[in-house]
Amino acid sequence: MRQPIRTTCAYCGVGCGISATPTGPRTVEIKGDEAHPANRGRLCSKGTHLGETVELTGRLLHPMIGTKRVGWDKALDLVAKRFADTIARHGPDSVAFYVSGQLLTEDYYVANKLMKGFIGSANIDTNSRLCMSSAVAGHNRAFGEDIVPASYDDLDAADLIVLVGSNTAWCHPIVYQRIQAARTERGTKLVVIDPRRTETCEGADLHLPLKPGTDVALMNGLLAWMEAQGLTDRGYLDAHVQTPDGFWEKLAQGHDLWTTAKTCDVSPAQLQQFFELFAATPRTVTLFSQGVNQSIRGTDQVNAIINLHLATGRIGKPGAAPFSITGQPNAMGGREVGGLASTLAAHMDFASENVARVGRFWAAPTMASKPGLKAVDLFRAIGEGRIKALWVMATNPAVSLPDAARVREALERCPFVVVSDVMAATDTGAYAHVRLPAAAWGEKDGTVTNSDRTISRQRPFMALPEQAKPDWWIIKEVAQRMGWRSAFAYQRPADIWREHARLTAYQNEGQRLLDLGDHATIGNDAYEAMEPFRWGGQHPLADGRFSTPDRKARLVPVTQMEVQAPLGAWPLTLNTGRYRDQWHTMTRTGLSAKLARHREEPLVEVHPTDALTLGVAAGDLARVTTAQGDSVFRVAISDCQRPGDIFTPIHWTDQTSTGGRTGMLPRPLVDPHSGQPGFKSTPARLSKVATEWKGFMILREPVQAKPACLWATRVTVPGGALFEVAGNGDPAHLEARLPKGERVEAVDPARGTRRVAIIVEGRLAGVLIVTRTGLLPSRDWLIGQLAASDVGPAVLAARGPGNQPDKGATICACFDIGLNQIVAAIRQQHLGDVPAIGQALGAGTNCGSCRPALAAILMQTPQEVLDAAE
Ligand code: SF4
Repeated sequence: MRQPIRTTCAYCGVGCGISATPTGPRTVEIKGDEAHPANRGRLCSKGTHLGETVELTGRLLHPMIGTKRVGWDKALDLVAKRFADTIARHGPDSVAFYVSGQLLTEDYYVANKLMKGFIGSANIDTNSRLCMSSAVAGHNRAFGEDIVPASYDDLDAADLIVLVGSNTAWCHPIVYQRIQAARTERGTKLVVIDPRRTETCEGADLHLPLKPGTDVALMNGLLAWMEAQGLTDRGYLDAHVQTPDGFWEKLAQGHDLWTTAKTCDVSPAQLQQFFELFAATPRTVTLFSQGVNQSIRGTDQVNAIINLHLATGRIGKPGAAPFSITGQPNAMGGREVGGLASTLAAHMDFASENVARVGRFWAAPTMASKPGLKAVDLFRAIGEGRIKALWVMATNPAVSLPDAARVREALERCPFVVVSDVMAATDTGAYAHVRLPAAAWGEKDGTVTNSDRTISRQRPFMALPEQAKPDWWIIKEVAQRMGWRSAFAYQRPADIWREHARLTAYQNEGQRLLDLGDHATIGNDAYEAMEPFRWGGQHPLADGRFSTPDRKARLVPVTQMEVQAPLGAWPLTLNTGRYRDQWHTMTRTGLSAKLARHREEPLVEVHPTDALTLGVAAGDLARVTTAQGDSVFRVAISDCQRPGDIFTPIHWTDQTSTGGRTGMLPRPLVDPHSGQPGFKSTPARLSKVATEWKGFMILREPVQAKPACLWATRVTVPGGALFEVAGNGDPAHLEARLPKGERVEAVDPARGTRRVAIIVEGRLAGVLIVTRTGLLPSRDWLIGQLAASDVGPAVLAARGPGNQPDKGATICACFDIGLNQIVAAIRQQHLGDVPAIGQALGAGTNCGSCRPALAAILMQTPQEVLDAAE
């Protein structure tokens, strides 16, 4: 076995350190890095199972022009020529890059430099626009610079943690575990502000299920109440904050507790409880995420939170800060190099002196002098023919952007589309004229910055397969072919890191807190050995000096916009988000059989009252329709929704399902300051989709293509794939998807049941079970038969000898433990708390991601069972 290599998780903005020990050419043992400050050895379910995602299944391994495999020279020459020709004919703004928070900082830096300094346009935007650009705009308005004024250590020091618009338990699980540890060890209070009752709310001291889009009213109401009680910090305000004339007078109008409760649709008593708790606990961290940012009022929502912290002096001190937590592993690195169309580089904007300064530093021939098109506008410009050449790197806009049907039309129309990606088949790749095989996690070499400004190395521990290349190399090769040889003469990531560090320090003179000058001359060996470090220290705003001309922060007046009442045609409000064990469009997490079982299908969560009105039941299929489009989902009934609200996940694509296409549904409306789309509240309607039959198919690999029917979703299972299917008419055509081999079948016309299995040399190669009227058997036993070597016709019974109850939906991915097993253990063994479940079953004892779910199950278990446990 080789030595462990310290690297960083590929997924979320927590930025956990990983110790990766290769065990073979494409296998690796994954552990948490005990020495990393973000996670101290812990990993969530996604990080824990990263080792299952490094195989080559589905990888893009060669440059492709159309469907033809070509060499690198031919592909790069074509990309450089088409971009150069387009710029020559139509100008610099006729081309664009759409990049990703999955890129490393070094990749980002080279792409940004090429577009803004050499092509001469700022048409480079990133999928981080969809994630946290409102936080960037809010920071810039309040602090004069995009500064996150907190670190994870503040969570350990806080007495009150307020989570706003953040399902932390699912989306940032290690941060959530850290919060729970603080609660246990220090008695830290937890308040969750979220329209949905998510697993994050389990065990919280208070959950405020506010009406979607009323965050500004809530924060303004709290600030007005604090001011009225004389609890704002006048000393801090006078010394460090510029307050616009009339700020307090305006705030005093319409923000009394009763009006605030009515606007937010929460109980006045609960609101009072929150206000009093906030007043009593100066050490407060307000941690916010996509629920705040992904709104057409996102920037105002961010500033409403920051106003509260500035006015109460809860900033720049241990345990006191507004804290934006990012979705992606390197959203922050992208912000630092200027990977957004609205920023220039190294935390500088497009002020003429900044353009001149960066131009001097780069010796740039053609500097962009104004911001470029932000993501939604950029794809609109492609659709309108204004952008004629597009390069997409490490992202999947055909799935993830709002109004995705228009995005697909734009891609279809674009004369030249290049996609650099790890995967061969993506929804966006289907529109590419050129596809370039990029390095994947485990092969990449560079740095990432997490949500608390900690910069960590991502180190390779596997060889680049076939023709795959790092993104920075691909971009610099194109830049050199476009004529800029010496400006892009990088040999290694360390060359780029040094240049980035030099630029942050170049003529900075204390104007910007981002200053990595200490790294400007770092040697290659030191770069290789770089330990995680947090730029700006723990509290970069501790001295009360901000990056504004007068060094004071700004209170920004923000007002609650009227939230549109549901319309007749669109009586529901659609909210969207993530699942615990999946990441973005599932190109990596979808490879893990363990992660797949937590949620096997895209669900639309509906409140029981709405379900009754709409005539849908759990397990039905339903079509969610908005003004932009529609998609079909499996119905789940959940009183965690507010009545009138529905929720769908963002992960499913054409590659994995016929339905569940959430990106088709949201409006392409954006926040006026940040350009971030509002994914969280789209007017919608829902209607039942009737089907005559339902069933499932289990196939041994290789299996990618979905069966052709109304509903077909695919997940990876050990040794193959599981497809859930449903449709109308004769389902016999599904048998065409079964492999060749010995066929056994059992058809029961009375029950409308058809069971067909294919056996090859005693091993199960595929099975199809469809019913028109009856129940379907558990999938688990049949999935297990993919590994058996003596399968016979009895496999059609879909169960082994003896009584084998269905384990139910997977709760613990690490130990593959299902809901039914947990409920049975609670009942039979009288288990009264989460540790007891862990002791009995192991659930929750490894990564800990399922502990909130275990707590929720305990909450829902009848009291007499729990009483018996005492
Ligand atoms: S919380 Fe989970 S997904 Fe996020 S960085 Fe840590 S291990 Fe990775």
